[in-house]
Amino acid sequence: MSKYWSKLAAGVEPYVPGEQPKDKKYIKLNTNENPYPPSARVLEAIRAAANESLKLYPDPNGEELKNTLAAYYGLKKEQIFVGNGSDEVLAFSFMAFFDPEQPILFPDITYSFYPVYARLFQIGYELIPLNEDFTLPVERFLKPNGGIIFPNPNAPTGEYVSLEAIENILRHNQEKVVIIDEAYIDFGGESAQRLVDKYPNLLVVQTFSKSRSLAGLRVGFALGHCDLIQGLERIKNSINSYTLDRLALAGAVEAVKDEAYFQTTRRRIIETRDRVIAELQKIGFKTGPSQTNFIFITHPQIKAEELFEKLKNEAILVRYFKQPKIDNYLRVSIGSDPEMDRFLEVLRKIIG
Ligand code: PMP
Repeated sequence: MSKYWSKLAAGVEPYVPGEQPKDKKYIKLNTNENPYPPSARVLEAIRAAANESLKLYPDPNGEELKNTLAAYYGLKKEQIFVGNGSDEVLAFSFMAFFDPEQPILFPDITYSFYPVYARLFQIGYELIPLNEDFTLPVERFLKPNGGIIFPNPNAPTGEYVSLEAIENILRHNQEKVVIIDEAYIDFGGESAQRLVDKYPNLLVVQTFSKSRSLAGLRVGFALGHCDLIQGLERIKNSINSYTLDRLALAGAVEAVKDEAYFQTTRRRIIETRDRVIAELQKIGFKTGPSQTNFIFITHPQIKAEELFEKLKNEAILVRYFKQPKIDNYLRVSIGSDPEMDRFLEVLRKIIG
């Protein structure tokens, strides 16, 4: 606490990201990064962009990236917003679409940045409890609200909800914006992107951080009706005109173009995930049907917190949330095959 802080700074409860430890070399399965490097074409594009033009500001509108994404998704450029990671896109969305007066709805177990944004922007919210099995209670979102946001698949549970269910929510909430945070959609689910032309209140948010191996580049984007995109642009242009730098823009464009690399790495992660789930079940772990690049696991005999510590001692870092309802679960990002083999080996030793 400092006397120099504004009331805003003093009052916020900032998000705590997963550790990025430097003390020893860990197998890092705690922040849902991609174990594979970015595409070689992406690295080449970034190197090529690292030239004298860095003395100039980047394109404030990210036109080339928007055009590339528009062609990829079969949408108009005006239906696309790009930002500095999807966290920024989400923060702008809270400002652009939600008001303090009417509470927004999101699940009680979900991405922990939502309550942080809600408090920062003084937007009321109501937590919708997930079902016992962590599935989304769709019917509880069919009531008056100030807006809705949830990840699909959800984080950290990995549960995916069908597009029919999402359409149901959209139809019942046509006066308010429904944001579907698709950070993990490329690992098995079907994107709500194909509903964007049908529902002017739908905003789909995605990221290059997971399925495109570019967490370090900070690129996210939103797809939606051009009126929603204009709302986001109004907020962005009231905060920072140049949210994406030249290197990020160049790398992101190439990432979308290198479809073959995207498909190969994404499939590899799905295969590893499904293999790991089968192996974990053999030693007594319970896991849901993950459609993401992480799994959410629990074991009937050993407490999750104890497992977390034991794994950490063996230089394997996973994510543990000391939070009601999920404090006996671990979220484990899917690493490379050798990393996951080591993870399984250590777990087998611990379980005995
Ligand atoms: N949404 C969800 C559900 C996430 O788990 C994450 C990653 N922490 C993000 C959004 C943000 O990702 P980024 O800012 O790297 O695009």
